[in-house]
Amino acid sequence: MIPSAFEYYRPKDVAAAIAVLQEHGDDARVVAGGHSLIPMMKLRMAFVEHLVDLQAVEEMRGISVSGGTVRIGALTTQHEIITSDDLVSAAPILREAALQIADPQVRYVGTLGGNVANGDPGNDMPGLMQALDASFTLVGPDGRRTVAARDFYESAYMTAREDDEILTEVIFASTQGGYAYEKQKRKIGDYATAAAAVLLTTEGGTCTAASIAMTNLSDVPVYSQSAGAALTGTSCDKAAIDAAVTAMLADIDPTEDNRGPVEFKRHVAGVVLGRAIERAASRA
Ligand SMILES: Cc1cc2nc3c(=O)[nH]c(=O)nc-3n(C[C@H](O)[C@H](O)[C@H](O)COP(=O)(O)OP(=O)(O)OC[C@H]3O[C@@H](n4cnc5c(N)ncnc54)[C@H](O)[C@@H]3O)c2cc1C
Repeated sequence: MIPSAFEYYRPKDVAAAIAVLQEHGDDARVVAGGHSLIPMMKLRMAFVEHLVDLQAVEEMRGISVSGGTVRIGALTTQHEIITSDDLVSAAPILREAALQIADPQVRYVGTLGGNVANGDPGNDMPGLMQALDASFTLVGPDGRRTVAARDFYESAYMTAREDDEILTEVIFASTQGGYAYEKQKRKIGDYATAAAAVLLTTEGGTCTAASIAMTNLSDVPVYSQSAGAALTGTSCDKAAIDAAVTAMLADIDPTEDNRGPVEFKRHVAGVVLGRAIERAASRA
């Protein structure tokens, strides 16, 4: 399939990109890596009359770590995340998760901004952003605003971003303690049947804080505050892991699809979360 005809724009800065979005409203969309949008256009599931390519917008690139704050430009590719030494030191869970996205060809091109802005429940980065308590910078005709990742996702493909806003940057604090991103997929390169992001800190063998989020188990990424609370104050032993899994299962709402029926997905969700907690605790 080839997509229907569209006008192509390649602005050099965010302001110029926003001007095209403002002029054409619903008929315009930005494209970053194109590895979610272009397949949808080819399948004629997305109709875009004015396509705004962000690749020449240099101000949206780059990774910086300073004073305990990590800033990643939206055009940063998954490959750049994997190969950034600064990021591996500041938040190693990013690399672990990015390595489980698709395959190298997709990761060379797919961007962090596209992954989090897309709103597809199958994308891995939105769940991770819940665990990190990240925030997203949105720039539009009325200026700049910051939205917490935990407030960003409304339903599948629906987010807090307005049509004429561009997500320019992802910001979060450097992580401490143990981490794990555990993903179960049908085959290499596939989206998650279920995935779990776990960050936790310990002191003297006791968990002092835990942040847990799940991927592809609802129409939005799921931050499970109660699962994290179930681990806090424990030694992350089997009873505590079981309690965290029970708490998480109350927060997810998977639907049946070609990755399996609901009960199977709930089972896999428990397995991946249990493994993620064990690995995070062993690294804390
Ligand atoms: C074979 C294959 C397997 C894949 N497997 C996985 C997987 O396992 N896990 C996973 O997470 N992803 C997977 N992906 C998706 C891949 O990671 C995409 O690259 C990513 O989801 C979107 O990034 P992109 O830069 O390609 O975005 P694009 O396709 O360019 O855009 C996606 C959407 O986000 C919007 N958008 C993009 N950038 C911005 C921005 N800065 N501001 C506002 N809106 C923006 C676009 O308008 C569009 O609606 C897979 C893709 C393929 C082709």
